[in-house]
Amino acid sequence: MSTLGTEARPLRVAIVGSGPSGFYAAQPLQKQDGLHVTIDMFDRLPAPFGLVRGGVAPDHPKIRSVTKVYDKIATAPGFTFWGNVKVGEDVSIETLRRHYDAIILAYGAETDRKLGIPGEDLPGSHTATSFVGWYNGHPDYRDLEFDLSQEAVAVIGLGNVAMDVARILAKTPDELRDTDIAQHALDALAESKVKTIYIIGRRGAAQSAFTTAEIKEMGHLTDCEPVVLQEEIELSPASVLEEEQDNNVRKNMEVLRELAGRTLSDAKSRRMHFKFLRSPVELKGGERLESMVLEKNKLEGGEPFKQKARGTGETEELPVGLVFRSIGYRGLAMPGVPFDEGSGRVPNDKGRVLENGAPVPGLYTAGWIKRGPSGIIGTNKPDSLETVQMLLEDLPNLTPCPEPEPVAMLAELAGKGVRIVKFEDWQKIDAVEIAKGEASGKPRERFTRIAEMLQVLED
Ligand code: NAP
Repeated sequence: MSTLGTEARPLRVAIVGSGPSGFYAAQPLQKQDGLHVTIDMFDRLPAPFGLVRGGVAPDHPKIRSVTKVYDKIATAPGFTFWGNVKVGEDVSIETLRRHYDAIILAYGAETDRKLGIPGEDLPGSHTATSFVGWYNGHPDYRDLEFDLSQEAVAVIGLGNVAMDVARILAKTPDELRDTDIAQHALDALAESKVKTIYIIGRRGAAQSAFTTAEIKEMGHLTDCEPVVLQEEIELSPASVLEEEQDNNVRKNMEVLRELAGRTLSDAKSRRMHFKFLRSPVELKGGERLESMVLEKNKLEGGEPFKQKARGTGETEELPVGLVFRSIGYRGLAMPGVPFDEGSGRVPNDKGRVLENGAPVPGLYTAGWIKRGPSGIIGTNKPDSLETVQMLLEDLPNLTPCPEPEPVAMLAELAGKGVRIVKFEDWQKIDAVEIAKGEASGKPRERFTRIAEMLQVLED
């Protein structure tokens, strides 16, 4: 029986990743009665909060305000933020294991699923997530360019990321100006020539992955008219059952029917066409993307909630100069950590990391890298709690790490010239961003380069 978690020997936990799942793993540890714990949270960026900062759309500030909860967690005793430290590169998992009794991998799903069709990599074809990172000023995507001189754009996928991308493309500069959208994106979008936005779903309206609030917003855009044709939203018998049995489907269908019942006017300069039951089979063009071939689908599988899209062989070609592929995120492997290539996740049982089917002592996972890229921010709360419960169950049998004082790790990081950004450092960066935003009536103006953030700490 170990004494880990006592006053004499607090439990040392490293959390890798500072997005919602990381913070929701820290919270129940802090709240655990009688447990003495120190939590060190690592992030490769100098700024915390993962997708809350880099993913949530700038015109959804309410969703972003969840960071107030994370601020409290980060400033509680025993918590240290280790920003600007890349686990797996600046410091290895093996090193972390020497200094921590337990590690919770909560590093999210950083890349995208591929369509796997010809022309996918043509200039003009982008992942939705790169566009999201770009308009949110994420340093990885700062220098990307999107050819917004194109008039016709397609967004592939029916999830909330697809909705975010389509909505940002559809909004006027005035609708975005007082948000914290990155200035370079606002400037580029102000010059946008986009007139037609197609949203392409491989399954039907009833199988849309977006949530009702997101589709509703499309009906309230200043200069963009949503176009939903009645024939696009007619439901198969199994889809009718899905609508009857699922509240979200029912609410989404209500909104889609309301949109379909509208009389289209020419008063707005942009249109957003919803096209269901179509899969892209080829992106065509010479030097760059010129069109997209779609195959019409029908639903197969019979049973409600199990219907799959099956191509009918009938195709159509849409002239589009830009495509945003929004078909889901995908997790990446981390050196020294078991990984399942098939699912893009860290294999686990309720958060206990598994290697060849057996739990790896002291190694846990939470969030998208645990369960896959699904759910809203709040979904991470019970998910991370489940992981922490496994850790606490294992606590009596955990082997204490050999070097609780991370002297060797600090020396390793110093040797590599890594400037560790503590939470107090981040608060300085945060304050400067907010002050910069005030000047232009925005909640904040983000630093879009890591060097700029670090410079604040030198000044
Ligand atoms: P998502 O919700 O999983 O949606 C992915 C979409 O891509 C689905 O419509 C899916 O269709 C489609 N798709 C997958 N493979 C495809 C293929 N090969 N060809 C054509 N379409 C394909 O993923 P997401 O939009 O990336 O969002 C990730 C998570 O973040 C979601 O849980 C989402 O709700 C959440 N999120 C929430 C908000 C918010 O709350 N405002 C904002 C952004 C993201 P099928 O259904 O047929 O598989």
